[in-house]
Amino acid sequence: MMNCCRPMKLDGSKTLKTWTEECAVFGIWGDPEAAQMTYLALYAQQHRGQESSGIVSLYEGQHFHHRGMGLVGEVFSPADLDRLKGEAAIGHNRYSTTGQPLLANAQPLTAHLLNGPVALAHNGNLINAEKLRVQLKKEGAIFQGTNDTEILVHLLARNSEANILSCLKQALPLLKGAYSMVLLTHDQLIAFRDPLGFRPLSLGYRKTSDGRKAVVISSETCAFDLIGAEYVRDIEPGEIFCVNQSGESSSFFLSEDDKKQTAFCVFEHVYFSRPDSLVFGRSVYESRKKMGRQLAREAPVDADLVIPIPDSGVPAALGYSEESGLPFDLGIIRNHYIGRTFIQPSQSIRSFGVKIKHNPQSHILKDKRVVAVDDSLVRGTTSKKIIQLLRQAGAKEVHFRIAAPPTTGPCYYGVDTSRRSKLIAAERSVEEIRKYVGADTLAYLSLEGLFAAVNGDAQQYCAACFDGHYKLLEEEETSL
Ligand code: 5GP
Ligand code: SF4
Ligand code: MG
Repeated sequence: MMNCCRPMKLDGSKTLKTWTEECAVFGIWGDPEAAQMTYLALYAQQHRGQESSGIVSLYEGQHFHHRGMGLVGEVFSPADLDRLKGEAAIGHNRYSTTGQPLLANAQPLTAHLLNGPVALAHNGNLINAEKLRVQLKKEGAIFQGTNDTEILVHLLARNSEANILSCLKQALPLLKGAYSMVLLTHDQLIAFRDPLGFRPLSLGYRKTSDGRKAVVISSETCAFDLIGAEYVRDIEPGEIFCVNQSGESSSFFLSEDDKKQTAFCVFEHVYFSRPDSLVFGRSVYESRKKMGRQLAREAPVDADLVIPIPDSGVPAALGYSEESGLPFDLGIIRNHYIGRTFIQPSQSIRSFGVKIKHNPQSHILKDKRVVAVDDSLVRGTTSKKIIQLLRQAGAKEVHFRIAAPPTTGPCYYGVDTSRRSKLIAAERSVEEIRKYVGADTLAYLSLEGLFAAVNGDAQQYCAACFDGHYKLLEEEETSL
């Protein structure tokens, strides 16, 4: 989604409006427990967004909604869920980074158009949002918030034909960027994905408590597992999928030629998605293990044990251990109860922020030559502190292995990978980074190795934050 426009300082001078949102969306049709299932599905996808959460349900042609700031478990009470009546619903979790948390940016977004109520939930980022917003404002549109999802609402409102599908087919070609969305009207659930398919979106079926077949749509399939739904297929790039009283239908808003190019975000497999999800039809867990295996082949080292940087580095470390034959151990134990509101009680305790989350086990690490495996290295600040902690715990050597290539560029398609100036690999060599993080050796997975781990077809993917090949770009974005 993208839904929030957070002004970012560029080199302390120019302020640029940008959107750095990764989110979860979910939709369900034909289930008497629609709101409850949406709640559970959002719970399963909490990792994709912790700032705010919301559900809109449909009952007798009317929308009911509840949104709030915070985690899914904090936002909805049992009474809130009871009020979300009906057999269809959509839901959304919004990602939080350093921007101001605003309820105005919480989704799903709701509006009343000529053809009835619409509610929208968006995962991704529109790169021409600012241009469209200015154009719409010049034509008299009034915006309530700063999120780009509202742009689509205005575009839909202007094309006021009775049929929402034809409205969508006129509006979607105007959008440029990443969007996997679910839309609820007064009588149907619609799911659609941008022509390059940057963000995941899957379709599944669930057997309801009264024996019917409900249709479910989710960013990640880990939500299907929780609610007992079966994964059927992905919503295709450029596809508009609808379900209503008469059944399911599917159509495309792009040409046969356009269908050939895709830009599946490879970072979903590297870091963002849950390892127990199928993303772009592939197991994330398997991809990560393969990345680790490949890393062991590309960057072997004489050592005593392999440890993951928890939790994101675990599957890759397992792969590295299996391929290298070096024993796997949990050299760092992670505290899972660090809330978003944790406040450092004292600045005087060095590395406190990292230590509260990661506790190195000296009885495992002492006098050992350790291979520490992580999924990615972005700014280097966390890694530097973790390596310090490993040494304090007695590790004799620390060989840092990253199961992805160096992150050299920002993401314009919905993942918050920081500005270029914050990316340690944007300007520095591997040797300079090794010195900075304080490792004995440092090695990254090659680009070829990364693609090999996710099926070998480099053309299918976007890997722009690793290889600089942005398949979609607006001029004003290049200065980030
Ligand atoms: P660094 O050393 O670059 O400060 O931190 C590296 C860690 O950041 C890795 O463990 C990786 O899992 C994590 N990471 C990678 N990408 C992201 C992201 O987009 N958001 C957050 N919160 N962590 C990330
Ligand atoms: Fe994913 Fe990176 Fe491409 Fe963004 S730039 S869509 S994070 S691969
Ligand atoms: Mg991590």
